[in-house]
Amino acid sequence: MPRSVPPRANEGDQADSRADRGRALLRRVFKPSQSSSNARPWPVLVVDDEPDVHAMTKVLLRDLRFKDRPFEVVSALSAAEARRILAERDDIPVVLLDVVMETPDAGLELVRYIREDLGNGRIAIVLRTGQPGEAPESEIMLAYDINDYRAKTELTAQKLFTALVGGLRSWTNLTTIEAMNISLEQRVEERTSQLDRARRFAENLVDMLPHPVWYKDGDGRLQMYNRAFRDMFGLPPGGSTMPPQLAALDRDSDAVVHGDGDLAFEATVDLTSGQRTIMISKGRLIEEAAGQPGTIGLITDITERKRMEHQLRKLATIDDLTGTLNRRAFFSAAELEIERAARYGGLVSVVMFDIDHFKQVNDRHGHAVGDQALRSAAAALRANLREIDILGRLGGEEFAALLPETGLDGAVEVAERLRAAVASIAFVVDGGGDSLRLTGSLGVAERRPDELTVDPVLARADAALYRSKETGRNRVSA
Ligand code: GH3
Ligand code: MG
Ligand code: MG
Repeated sequence: MPRSVPPRANEGDQADSRADRGRALLRRVFKPSQSSSNARPWPVLVVDDEPDVHAMTKVLLRDLRFKDRPFEVVSALSAAEARRILAERDDIPVVLLDVVMETPDAGLELVRYIREDLGNGRIAIVLRTGQPGEAPESEIMLAYDINDYRAKTELTAQKLFTALVGGLRSWTNLTTIEAMNISLEQRVEERTSQLDRARRFAENLVDMLPHPVWYKDGDGRLQMYNRAFRDMFGLPPGGSTMPPQLAALDRDSDAVVHGDGDLAFEATVDLTSGQRTIMISKGRLIEEAAGQPGTIGLITDITERKRMEHQLRKLATIDDLTGTLNRRAFFSAAELEIERAARYGGLVSVVMFDIDHFKQVNDRHGHAVGDQALRSAAAALRANLREIDILGRLGGEEFAALLPETGLDGAVEVAERLRAAVASIAFVVDGGGDSLRLTGSLGVAERRPDELTVDPVLARADAALYRSKETGRNRVSA
């Protein structure tokens, strides 16, 4: 006899309909009936080619109930008809099946169809035969998972009921298990897809970060890194060795442990691109399932921040117009030198310098030329001092130089050199032949052993400068 194969839905639909079927089954099995009168009956499929058997079964089942629900006979007069019914409904818990119908083994063929082709392992199959000789072999009972076997003659209402109840219990249990399996599978699927989504989100987020981020395992192998990390160290996608610059830092660095338990250190690194980068590298230990903990790391490039800080510091200490130290920076640097001299007994002198008749320069040539004259005078002063001498603009056209390791005589010599340098500057102004000459008056003082700050030394240098002005300008007084 040819096997009929039921049409198969495609895989996706199948999964959905399987889940729906699971839920529907549970509802059907466990839905409490409102009252015994409208309780849904248990469908019992009777497959037999003798119409009398159907009629008799109906009579036998009429007054029987299981879990407050009556029975209802669904009739099939041939195995073929039974196949059609079973292919359409999966809510039939029990089939009472004749063995010999269209063919001597039509009943057993139907059993095989149910178990193998339909894949229905839940339905309870009770075989009924007219002749004791038609009883199936016990191997067949086992092979086809046949639940019960009764001779038609022995089927009293009571025995039929016992067979049905056994079948229903088995069906109910198997249906419950199947439905629970389905819902469990579904929950696993949902959870897996949630985790998948979370993983994709995290991966993309990390990759989009402007900060280089990496993860290395307990053996120091680089396991993951983002695009910024790859770009910074010029790595191929999927490399597994730490960039040498980072690996070296890791070994040598004096890492600072932050309150949050993270390790952090600042380092200057020469990148493969040749660029020098100042970075803060922050690392956190992550427990591994086995072995040494791994490290997750995050790099912040602070090159630009450092550059800005440097710029700001410069702005705060340097005089805009002349490039010498401003008043505040001069005093703090001078104060340090005086302190050092006071402690270790070295010589220190101060030279004060003021441009002569500078007001006239502004008045005659304008403020811009005045500025230019100031810049030139400052440059001439700087060019005639040593690296260790501290030069500052104290205000207007007044400058001061602090000369470490220099006594009064030496300082006067220096002051004379400065005077000569400024006096030798000749500007060409107004685009014509008119040339502008500058002179300055200077005052010199040496720190006395009892002087612990720069102020009294400056005051004496200032008094000396005043004497230079008084006595004709363009000269040095001490
Ligand atoms: P003295 O020889 O007695 O020092 O005469 P002086 O004119 O140089 O002195 P005074 O203190 O009377 O004038 C200083 C002038 O310097 C007044 C001010 O306009 C000018 N000045 C101060 N700061 C600047 C500046 O930044 N740029 C320019 N162009 N001029 C300045
Ligand atoms: Mg002046
Ligand atoms: Mg002045």
